[in-house]
Amino acid sequence: MRVFFIGFGQAGGKVVDMFIEQDKKSGMNSFRGIVVNTARTDLMGLKNIELKDRILIGQTVVKGHGVGTDNVTGARIAADEIDSIINSIDTRGTHDVDAFVIVAGLGGGTGSGGSPVLARHLKRIYREPVYVLGLLPAPEEGRLYTYNAARSLSTLVNEADNVFVFDNSAWKNEGESVKTAYSRLNDEIVRRFGVLFRAGEVSKAGVGEMVVDSSEIINTLRGGGISSVGYAVTEVVSERTKQKRGFFGGLKDSFSKKEKAEEVLMGEDKSAKVIALVRRAMLGRLTLPCDYSTAERALVLVAGNPNEMDRKGVEKAKSWVEENIAGVEVRGGDYPVDSNYIAAVVVLATIAEAPRVRELFEIAKETKEDVIRSKEKRASMFDDQDIDPLFE
Ligand code: GDP
Repeated sequence: MRVFFIGFGQAGGKVVDMFIEQDKKSGMNSFRGIVVNTARTDLMGLKNIELKDRILIGQTVVKGHGVGTDNVTGARIAADEIDSIINSIDTRGTHDVDAFVIVAGLGGGTGSGGSPVLARHLKRIYREPVYVLGLLPAPEEGRLYTYNAARSLSTLVNEADNVFVFDNSAWKNEGESVKTAYSRLNDEIVRRFGVLFRAGEVSKAGVGEMVVDSSEIINTLRGGGISSVGYAVTEVVSERTKQKRGFFGGLKDSFSKKEKAEEVLMGEDKSAKVIALVRRAMLGRLTLPCDYSTAERALVLVAGNPNEMDRKGVEKAKSWVEENIAGVEVRGGDYPVDSNYIAAVVVLATIAEAPRVRELFEIAKETKEDVIRSKEKRASMFDDQDIDPLFE
């Protein structure tokens, strides 16, 4: 799939910068992208996005200092400057693009407010689908972040063709510093979605037996709403691993010792290996923990060493996924890549139940009520007082 990424805000910019880095390193060139921000320093910190593709908006309003956590201002600035954003996208070339993917942290200001505005305009202008990869804040970031994320997410589901959700709180370890957590989390994001978004593009390892092309991904996501992604990886040849280029990793295919030791495949039947991997992807940690039995559609993608691919295994794995989700549409196939790893990606599309999203909306509702109450209190304190103001 040829993806045009738009990183909106700080988190979105960082993640898109990593997608571009991964794509360059793999030599596939299936991604292109720009980043948009109201804060100049965030744009300066990126490494892989060309300077001309870093778009600073809102200069007359916030003078390059960002909007803080004010996503209403973020949305307004994006709407005011939508022409220059679209113009930058057009200039970069869109004729061969299969989909647009906007990436944003939903708890902040710029990306949270700007991404629904951009999604609406992209959808109006282009025929290609517009997806959003939205990052949910952790509860410890405070209620304002939660409130912002709830407002942004509920707007996004109406504006985008589908919203992939990544929940920071499900992935951040207790006691881990935010900085280390983010770079680890971003690596996890890019690894999973990198495999998904590059599916169907020709890699050095050739064409698969059951190719997944962009239309399969698009049809899987057709139901809209929110989607969650599962992923599992396993090593197939241990000795040469270090010399191989990294297809799955952000920088190189490096996985923890534990992950390697557990996963080295030992003479098992190929098809059983594929099924086990797909099960592990779906039952393991998802980008958004959710009740997978409520998914409307699914996509199963097995990527990796062509010698380990097995058509029967993929078919059986698809049937297993189909038995476990609400709907009956499960698409999928293999994607051979030059790597010593084999990875399974399972997209659970259009899910109806995710506890974190429910919690997010509950907290947001309480926060809204508290804000209204405190406004009323403040107003009543100054009501009916008999003192004349200094001037009218
Ligand atoms: P913006 O620049 O105003 O759009 O705000 P940010 O992009 O900083 O969004 C803030 C939210 O994004 C926070 O609530 C964090 O949860 C999340 N966030 C910030 N940086 C990162 C990052 O590098 N990775 C991830 N996964 N989340 C991030």
